[in-house]
Amino acid sequence: MEKKHRLFIAGDWTSPRLGKVRKIFDPARGEVISEVAEGEATDIDTAVAAARTAFESGPWAVMTGSDRGRILWRIGDLIDKHREELSLLDALNQGSPYQIIHDYYVDAAAEQFRYYAGWATKLNGHTVPLSANGDWHAYTLRQPIGVVGQIIPWNVPLLMAAWKVAPALAAGCTVVLKPAEHTPLTAIRLAELAQEAGLPPGVLNVVTGDGSAGEALVDHPGVDKIAFTGSTAVGKRIVQLAAGNLKKLSLELGGKSPAIVLPDADIEHTVNGLLAATYLNSGQACTNPSIINIHSSIYDEVVHSLARRAADMRIGHGLDPSTDIGPLISERQLNRVIGYIDRAVSDGGKVLVGGKRYGATGYFVEPTILEGVPSSCPAYLEEIFGPVTCVQRFDDAADLMAISALANDGPYGLSASVWTKDVSTAHKLAAKIRAGIVWINAHHQVDAALPFGGFKQSGWGREMGFEAIQLYTEVKSVAARL
Ligand code: NAP
Ligand code: MG
Repeated sequence: MEKKHRLFIAGDWTSPRLGKVRKIFDPARGEVISEVAEGEATDIDTAVAAARTAFESGPWAVMTGSDRGRILWRIGDLIDKHREELSLLDALNQGSPYQIIHDYYVDAAAEQFRYYAGWATKLNGHTVPLSANGDWHAYTLRQPIGVVGQIIPWNVPLLMAAWKVAPALAAGCTVVLKPAEHTPLTAIRLAELAQEAGLPPGVLNVVTGDGSAGEALVDHPGVDKIAFTGSTAVGKRIVQLAAGNLKKLSLELGGKSPAIVLPDADIEHTVNGLLAATYLNSGQACTNPSIINIHSSIYDEVVHSLARRAADMRIGHGLDPSTDIGPLISERQLNRVIGYIDRAVSDGGKVLVGGKRYGATGYFVEPTILEGVPSSCPAYLEEIFGPVTCVQRFDDAADLMAISALANDGPYGLSASVWTKDVSTAHKLAAKIRAGIVWINAHHQVDAALPFGGFKQSGWGREMGFEAIQLYTEVKSVAARL
């Protein structure tokens, strides 16, 4: 943290062309903890040129999948080796509790690299029998898409970087990564570890900076593909900007994920699961359960239990071992979240628990549950990205069309969860809900092997699994007349 961090371009730490720096904060204290270079459009130019050179010449361009896989595996091992340090950096810079970052996020980041290390040797094409007259030998090749620009948000800094970088490298692409302006520290450390693992210069470049550096990357004619995670509003802007050279796009955008609690649900398990999912990362998770639909027969019991447990959560610094829930990322985000709560109340909603800022320093909001929020209210319609959920009841547990209609309301389709002991109902609902991932008796489980992404305005494409390999490769057909 004491270092003056520069930009990682072509395997070197480079000063930004315009010499600007950005202060990096601990959101729990509102204090400066580090400084990083503020990259801008001219730095993006340099990074894209380095990525192009590394894609077209040098060791990466001719490396076997096996050798790429070995490097990826080593990055995963180095993440494991530096687990405490990486967890400390994200706990200080992003604010989530250290133990959650350590046990879950850093582990998942290492696993991304190991999972995709295996794919590097499996980028097969296939042979294709043709219907045309004559003798033909036809086949497909799966080839890297080229230079990839990757733009990530601040909510899970190291894991977001790993989600993006690992499959792109497995596919043989080269990368320019633009971390979020507030949370660049673990992306910088990841670049150091990747270099230590033997990644050749220029294959991964990290340009820290704000949204304007992101725009320069999206607009750049030398970039073949953009992979973006962030808000739906910025996603729409990216679609327009990318039209210049029709670069390929994958977009992981916002969500407003419903949970459906059926009358036969195991109440203790459901409350535990929903509580953890709702307040994970202080609610700064694109999949957090933001509208919890509960059958009227168990509504009071579930809501009472959720509210009591939310009120007991300990708010504090991510490095304090007793902390359950940390701060939001910034004062701006704090004010945004409080604005949604206040508006819900003035529209007729009721605060069952929480509802206020916590403390005078740092950007904390109490774990909050809202009831009776009108469906026209912004807190019901829009992604809040804070520790806030809305609860509402439904009556007919047998009407799966009506229940799925509740879940399918609105412009998003990222995720949903269904809580029940009835296997048939669970799978029937999973089929009807228009979301990229549906959990049954769970919420939030993501896995390197399980495709993840959105229906509707929650995005384009799927990350994780072989689907992410498809995002970073082109299929070429070869037809030979014999
Ligand atoms: P954001 O404002 O959309 O920013 C995301 C990233 O895009 C940041 O790196 C940002 O840079 C950059 N950016 C901003 N404006 C840009 C532009 N015009 N062109 C190119 N890049 C630009 O989102 P956020 O507030 O950081 O993150 C919260 C959002 O991310 C939520 O909506 C959440 O649902 C979504 N999210 C989605 C997923 C998913 O997988 N579906 C996962 C996590 C988060 P700066 O940091 O400098 O602004
Ligand atoms: Mg921004």
